[in-house]
Amino acid sequence: MNLPIKIGVAGIPLSSVKQDIISGISRIHELGLDGMELEFVHGVKMSEATALKVVKEIQAKGLFLTAHAPYYINLNSKEELKLQNTYKHILDTARIASLCGASSFTFHPAFYLKDEPEVVFETVLARLLDLKEQIVSGGYSILISPETTGKPSVFGSLSEILQLCAKIPGLNLCVDFAHLHARSNGKYNSYEEFMAILDQIAAVNPALLHNLHMHVSGIQYSIKGEIRHLPLKDSDFNYLDLLRALVTARVSGFLICESPILEEDALLLQQTYLKILEQA
Ligand SMILES: [Zn+2]
Repeated sequence: MNLPIKIGVAGIPLSSVKQDIISGISRIHELGLDGMELEFVHGVKMSEATALKVVKEIQAKGLFLTAHAPYYINLNSKEELKLQNTYKHILDTARIASLCGASSFTFHPAFYLKDEPEVVFETVLARLLDLKEQIVSGGYSILISPETTGKPSVFGSLSEILQLCAKIPGLNLCVDFAHLHARSNGKYNSYEEFMAILDQIAAVNPALLHNLHMHVSGIQYSIKGEIRHLPLKDSDFNYLDLLRALVTARVSGFLICESPILEEDALLLQQTYLKILEQA
């Protein structure tokens, strides 16, 4: 559907006949969803030949793609080898995902280790600037979208990610609304709080609301943040008011459902979004 917010799933739908990417894309299309996130979370293993098949499929079916880079990324690593691998994971994701025709890719930028958050910020900023240059000079046409993370012990609060956007021209972001809710032990869950998030983003750059990369799911959490993802209806996550806020703030972009019941909840989000649009 050609609506401002395109809704998809994190990875191949569970109901896909086969768990390969091309079958997954067909299933997305059958379900009437708009796209999916390529899950490179355990490494970028897709070949360029497959990527070229993928781009044909999604163009033929009018779907969108985003990508999630490997988990083994730490832009604050002190170890040369880990840092080299971090760069490789990010650059490989940018290269293969852009070949697939993906619009944006996300990643969890860094761990604080034992460093002060301000010091980590400067390190992440310098390395991301460097990576962004390499991605642009490599000719990869894709949005770079560091993600808000789910635990207060991990780099990636909304304000940290937004400060990166303020300092790196053209940097996008991925707002994981479930992570923000879990990271704050239950905040960010009302219409007013969702509007405040969107206002904070617009204050940095209103254009960020035009290609927003978003993650949504139910979530279980404690004072330490995220424990695990849950189906929307088994959690307290207020997806209805989130969608209302996104419509009010005229957000456009890509909303990826990361619930354990992937497509079932993605369809619930899609139906709810359509109802809100009809009433607006
Ligand atoms: Zn993530």
